[in-house]
Amino acid sequence: MNDSASRAAFERARKVIPGGVNSPVRAFLAVGGTPRFIARAAGPYLYDLDGNELVDLICSWGPMLLGHAHPEVLAAVGAAAAHGTSYGAPTLAEVELAEAIIERTPVEEVRLVSSGTEATMSVLRLARGITGRDMIIKFAGCYHGHVDALLAAAGSGVATLAHRAGAGPALPGSPGVTAATTADTVVLSYNDRVGVREAFTTYGDRIAAVITEAAAGNMGVVPPGVEDGVGFNTFLADLCHANGALFISDEVMTGFRVTRSGQYGIDGVEPDLMTFGKVMGGGFPAAAFGGRADLMQHLAPVGGVYQAGTLSGNPVATSAGLATLRLATDEVYAHVDRVSAALQTEVHAALSAAGVPHVIQAAGNLFSVFFVSGVDSVPDYATASGQSTTAYSAFFHAMLDQGVYLPPSAYEGWFLSSAHDDGAMDRIVTALPAAARAAAAA
Ligand code: PMP
Repeated sequence: MNDSASRAAFERARKVIPGGVNSPVRAFLAVGGTPRFIARAAGPYLYDLDGNELVDLICSWGPMLLGHAHPEVLAAVGAAAAHGTSYGAPTLAEVELAEAIIERTPVEEVRLVSSGTEATMSVLRLARGITGRDMIIKFAGCYHGHVDALLAAAGSGVATLAHRAGAGPALPGSPGVTAATTADTVVLSYNDRVGVREAFTTYGDRIAAVITEAAAGNMGVVPPGVEDGVGFNTFLADLCHANGALFISDEVMTGFRVTRSGQYGIDGVEPDLMTFGKVMGGGFPAAAFGGRADLMQHLAPVGGVYQAGTLSGNPVATSAGLATLRLATDEVYAHVDRVSAALQTEVHAALSAAGVPHVIQAAGNLFSVFFVSGVDSVPDYATASGQSTTAYSAFFHAMLDQGVYLPPSAYEGWFLSSAHDDGAMDRIVTALPAAARAAAAA
């Protein structure tokens, strides 16, 4: 496949943008090779600068639940933009988006922001402000954006880069994050209830909050485990409440994607505070945090916890999010569930036929493929780190050569959309056997 225009663009980009990209995982560091530069997208397809048509299994890392360039979303965006692109004053559309989020989730009030990072940063400040406590518990392999205090054993690009540097599953963090900033962050193993209990015993009334991905999707997909009929999120919520701490569920990735109500629609656990992003912005910079009214009332201008944003609730982003949520009908979720299940079956069949050890895990329609051997499930980051990134890289490039664009890291989920029709699915299924053989040979 010709990628000469992407190569030239990457050369040019590297002279003016660190690593040539504006978000690290885009650089193909984990899988090698040159990232494709995208010229346009439509439905389930990306088109790169060389004109190659690629079936997109990233969907902008989650937001594009309806596929790319959905005509009705574009119409809503065009209409909003024609009325002006930013006012710095309240609009009715912000109220409608807040209402749409509240209608789908257990939160009672919402504050709109511009990125998932901003949402988690703000929600930690709020939790600390409310409780008067400093410490935060997070889980290794969970990524909550590049908030300093949460850049300790983070997943996604941090996991990808750390793994590449040979740092293994220990704390990767990042230079520039001070020891003082993460001193109040306790990192535990996901799904490890003994560890969480011990942390509460040790730190007790110093813990402001536990923050977790509602279902982990940034170390590959690791759903919350169930023990004796009790899900991990229920366990966390109960332990927080018994200790006067707040339970924060990060649904930036899962929200409005794995069901219309996110992971909450699957396990029904009511967090004190939640974060949202991706799908609710319809491909524009929009995110949110929310929670019980009595907690959200601590935010300025009502309460003392300061939080603000020039572009928060931006009218164009808000219109894209509202249109996306309006168009995300039960049929849309049923379709994404169906193609996700079918694809998982096909991937499993192809890898099994080629003799490639693997584990596929899902949270609703979000799934990922771990190239691990000797285990039949991946409950945490330490296990996820045991995967063969060499096999994944070979698999990734064989798929890309055949026009299928997978996440360029073994630590990421695979995202589908309502636009993934039979044609797109056939292309993926046709590409799988050769890619599985490439993984086996790696
Ligand atoms: N939380 C989760 C669970 C995420 O997956 C992400 C991004 N992948 C973020 C927070 C950060 O969002 P953003 O990239 O919009 O800052």
